[in-house]
Amino acid sequence: MDDCIFCKIARGEIGSKIIYENDNFFSIPDANPIVEGHTLIIPKKHFKTLLDMPSTLAGELFDCIKKTVEKIIKNINAGGSVGFNIVNNNFKAAGQVVNHLHFHIIPRRDGDGIKVIA
Ligand code: AMP
Ligand code: ZN
Repeated sequence: MDDCIFCKIARGEIGSKIIYENDNFFSIPDANPIVEGHTLIIPKKHFKTLLDMPSTLAGELFDCIKKTVEKIIKNINAGGSVGFNIVNNNFKAAGQVVNHLHFHIIPRRDGDGIKVIA
């Protein structure tokens, strides 16, 4: 997909700080973080939504999520227990803006007041 921003990052045409990567996924900081450590998990191939991703990639997806979370939680300053939400918007009606599958990792703390749609 020539004009897709996440495909451009995957191809190295737009620079970004890669936090973790495996054969089929990588993670980068969200450009507009809603909280420190807000990170995106992105497949290297262009899938529009979760429905387009082969289920055979699920293991690698979870590897990327888990290794990324371990890294970002270590990098967040101490002070209160840290948790995280995984958010995945599919299709416009659900708030998908970038039409290349991605998962938001949102670090959380007790009482941080962040509202995540569940
Ligand atoms: P959504 O499609 O609503 O799940 O969200 C798209 C997310 O991608 C937003 O949180 C944006 O801040 C983020 N985003 C858009 N362009 C970039 C980029 N070039 N690098 C990192 N994050 C981006
Ligand atoms: Zn793409």
